[in-house]
Parts: sequence; structure tokens; C-alpha cells
Amino acid sequence: MSEQKPYVVSARKYRPATFKTVVGQRALTATLKNAIDSGRLAQAYLFCGPRGVGKTSCARIFAKTINCLSPTPDGEACGVCESCRAIDRGNSFNLVELDAASNNSVDDIRSITEQVNVPPQSGRYRVFIIDEVHMLSNAAFNAFLKTLEEPPKYVVFILATTEKHKVIPTILSRCQIYDFKRITINDMVEHLEYVASQEGVTTDRDALGVIALKADGAMRDALSIFDQVAASSRGNVTYANTIENLNVLDYDYYFRMVDAFRSGDVSSALLLYKDIRDKGFDSLFMVNGLAAHVRDLMVAADPRTASLLETSEEIAVRYTEQSRTLPPQWYYAAMRLLTDCDLNYRTASSKRLLVELTLIRLCQLLTPATPPFDAIDRKQPLGDPTKAPSKAQEPQVGYGSPSPHPGSSSTPPQSRPQQLQSQPQPTAATPQPAIAKPVVNPSAGSNSVAQPKPAAASKPTAAPKPVAPKVATGRRPSTLRLSDVGSNVNPDAGRLTHRATPISHDRFIQAWGEFIARNPQLHILISAMRASKPTPAGEHAYSIIVDHPAQLQAFELSMPKLIEYLRNFLENDLLTLKVEVNTNPVENKQLPPKEFLRQVVSENSALAGFLSALDAELV
Ligand SMILES: [Zn+2]
Repeated sequence: MSEQKPYVVSARKYRPATFKTVVGQRALTATLKNAIDSGRLAQAYLFCGPRGVGKTSCARIFAKTINCLSPTPDGEACGVCESCRAIDRGNSFNLVELDAASNNSVDDIRSITEQVNVPPQSGRYRVFIIDEVHMLSNAAFNAFLKTLEEPPKYVVFILATTEKHKVIPTILSRCQIYDFKRITINDMVEHLEYVASQEGVTTDRDALGVIALKADGAMRDALSIFDQVAASSRGNVTYANTIENLNVLDYDYYFRMVDAFRSGDVSSALLLYKDIRDKGFDSLFMVNGLAAHVRDLMVAADPRTASLLETSEEIAVRYTEQSRTLPPQWYYAAMRLLTDCDLNYRTASSKRLLVELTLIRLCQLLTPATPPFDAIDRKQPLGDPTKAPSKAQEPQVGYGSPSPHPGSSSTPPQSRPQQLQSQPQPTAATPQPAIAKPVVNPSAGSNSVAQPKPAAASKPTAAPKPVAPKVATGRRPSTLRLSDVGSNVNPDAGRLTHRATPISHDRFIQAWGEFIARNPQLHILISAMRASKPTPAGEHAYSIIVDHPAQLQAFELSMPKLIEYLRNFLENDLLTLKVEVNTNPVENKQLPPKEFLRQVVSENSALAGFLSALDAELV
């Protein structure tokens, strides 16, 4: 160690001196070493990659290795011979460096090209490193090109750049190109541990993880940050003093926040938010940090994407553990709420309220909203996420004691009971599972439950049940539906609780008619819809009989769109549709489609009214 020597910053002191000690570029250094071993040297190399990943270091190591007088058995520079020491001291005649960022004129390049003609006095090669080569002026580029084309045998050019796309093709085509990677968090943490042990600094891995994250892939930055923290903590780098020193928000907050979301604990979420603000962190910073945390949970949830997690192994384990407690749909819904908050933040008149509302909604994703909130929420104009706050702040909101019939209290009285009697059911429409052909699953495309409806017209199916129980693990019972989460057409996509307004038949027919009117482009589906007659088949179920398999197919194709529309219109997320091909056509065939539709309309005042309001006619 360096007791008597002046202080040298770690980035310089621990600059790699051999290929083996270059951090995080193993494949690339192996290739370079092989090239040197086999004596197949190119005359020009281009090292590309972000800053701080070891391009210049590798160039120097390369120059040292090809000139070393007694290389080690494994092909590294010895570090002690005259040539190695001259390069280390920075006064080797064989190594010329030019920083094109500040020396980009024709004259600067000319000083290089003139030196190229002087052969090495000792050693075998003269190496010219041109850093940030993309900064050369056009004239300088052109002046350089001739030399680059036919350099003397003893010359090797190593050009380095952070912006490969700015290097002109004529230069690119003359170079062997090496792409340096960003250094991974784990590689950095390992190297920092090594440096710390050499310096007698105690550390913990979480702290080094934070430093590595802050350095964003650049080892040089990581070492500078490390120096800073080590100095201010007097040689004892802990997680706590690191986040304080670097003004980083403790990721623990995010974990606790998500715990609060999972258990629907609005109070905890709001208090955590206050805590974060009290520490001086900006609300938007927290919102974005939270979004990043959700993203990290999402990639941690799937072993295939776990490698996208940029964090130390210890924290990765925490991510994986927390992600196990969350259903996949939650991530999208949560990220959507957070991005909405981010988008609306700048224009919100009360930013704190906006953030608090977002947190409340996040708490409600996995627990059913209480009826008052549900009612308020539903009156919001479509797609306006910021309108609710004032009311949403009412104290009773969101503390989410599961209500057995969410939404029911907000139902207008006249549409309460089911009106199964509203029209005489043709015999064929009575669901007949025994002979029914394929059954279209309304949640087609999602692997969530299909609620295969048996002919349970009378049985009040346990529809609201899935909403209620809050499972101990925080994982919802598998009742999530397409319209709850995925398709973003739903302005309420942010919530995972079910709306379950009782469906009146008139209202259903109105929804049916409106979908037809609004989607004329779906020709086949529309004509199938017109030709069919939906009949209630349970509290939240409708049965549709069609005459031809082709019509069934039309329903299948557009089912997600149709079911989503109907669910939103009827404010009932439990609605299912069962489409069947009429296996006994005689009974239903009497009426041609047009007549049939007339009959439907005549039986449904709402539809009739709707059609006349639209000034539409049956065709
Ligand atoms: Zn040597």
C-alpha cells in the first residue's frame, strides 16, 4: 500500500495494467490477446463504447504488450522491462497519444503523421492512440486518411470513440472494430471490493451496489464516487452513509411502498411518501423511482428477463421475492398509473395531491375499492385520471374492507333486479351445453379464468365472490380479466377491482345496439350480431345463438373488443358472453335476419329509441 506516497485517486491508481485486470470486458481482451499471441496484428483498431469502460486503458495495455521485452507465459506485459516501465511512466517513444477532443485541427494530425515516419528505436512497434477520434475536423480526417491507408509496418493505430456513428465510413472500413460493453453492476461491485480491500476500506455490498448503479456503467466514475464516499465516511463505507452522501433514495422505501400497495394500506403509502418528501426528495423523482422499481420487479418475476435487472445479486434476491407476491397484470396497471402521474405532474395544480391520488389508486389495484370511491370513480369523464383527487381524499376512501357486492350500491334503483323475463325466449336460445358447439371464451387471449358458464340461467353465480377475498399472500385469486388490466382502451385500466353493476336486459340491448352503431367497419361481426339474439344466461352472463359457424368465428375474432365495450358500457366486469351455433336451426330459421332484428328492436324499447335517435334504419 501507499503509506508514504502522495494520495493518488483510485481511478488512476487502479487503472488496469494487464488485460487480465481489465474489468468487465473479458471476451474482448481475450480476442486482443489471441491476436497478439498469434502475431496477427492489424494496422488500425477502432475501440468503441461508452465512457469509462476501459477503451484507453486497453489501448495502452495493447501498446505495452506488443512492445514488452519479456512477456509473461500467459501473454501479458511483464511490467518491469524497460519498455513497459517507459510506457507506465508515460515517456515511451513508442507510444504517442492524441486527444482529438481538444486537438482536432489539421496541424494536430500533421504532428502525428510526421512522427509515423520515424521507426521505433527500441521495441518493435510504435503505437498511436487517438482518443475521441470522431471529434477530428473534416480536414483533419482527410489529412489522416492517407497515413491510415498505408502506414509503415511498425505502426499500429488505435482509435477510440464514444460515438462510432460519427466516425466516417472511410475510416471505419480501414479498422478492426472492437465494441466495449457497459460494465455490469456485479463486475463493478467485485472490482470495488478489490480496491477497498487494497485500500483498507471496509464496505458492504449494498453500498457498493449503489455506487455502481450511480456510475452507470463507467468504472472510472465508480472509482471516483468510491473515493468520495470512502473519504467522507473515514474508511467505513456503509449503505446508510453511501445513500446519504450520494443523495440516493433508499430502495427500501420502494420495497415498503409496494408492500403497502399490495396490502391496500393507504395510510402507510401516504406516510412513506411524506417521509420521502421530508428527506428532501422531489415527488417526481420518487414517482419515477417507483416506476423503475415496478419495472425491476417485473423483469425479476420472470427468470428469462431476470438478467435485465441491473443491481447487485443481494438486491436482486429481494426483487425476486417481492415479485413473487404480485400477479403479472399488476405491473402493467401500476406502471400505467405511475406514467400517467408523471405525464400530468407538470400541469397539475396540486402536485402533492396528484401523487397521493396515484398512491391511493395503486393501493386499490389489488384490493377492491369501497363503494363510495367506486361510485366517484365511475363518474369521471373517460380518460381523465386527475379529476378524482378532491373527492378521493375523503378519509374513508380506499381502506378497502372488501365489500361483498362492489358497485352495487351505486346502481340506479330502476335497473336493480335482473330482468330475465323481459322477453320470451325462443327455445333454441336456452343454452344447451350438451349439443352446443364450441363455446367462445370471452376472455379469449388471456389465460385467466374463463368462467365456463354452464346453463346456469337461474343460479346466481358466485360472481362477486372473486372480488372479495384478499388473499394472505397478496396474490389475487385468478379471476383477472382481459378488460381489467390489459387493453388500454379502458380508461379505468388502472384498477383491478371488478365493477359488477347488475345488468338489465334493456341496458344490455342498448349496449349491443350501440356497439353495432359504432363499429360499422366490423362488417362480419356486425351482421352476425344483427342476426343473433342475446339472451340473459345468469346474473352476469349472456348467451348468443348464431346460425352459422362463420358467425361464431366472427364473434371469436372480435370478442375482446366486444366484451370490453359491453363491460364498460354496463359497468360490469364480470359479464361473460357465450356464443353457440344453433344446432337445431329449424326452430329459429323462420325469421330472416332482417325480420329477426325487427323483432329484437320491437321487443326492446331502448334499442328502438336509440335507433330512432340515431336516425338509423334497419337494413
Ligand atoms: Zn515488459
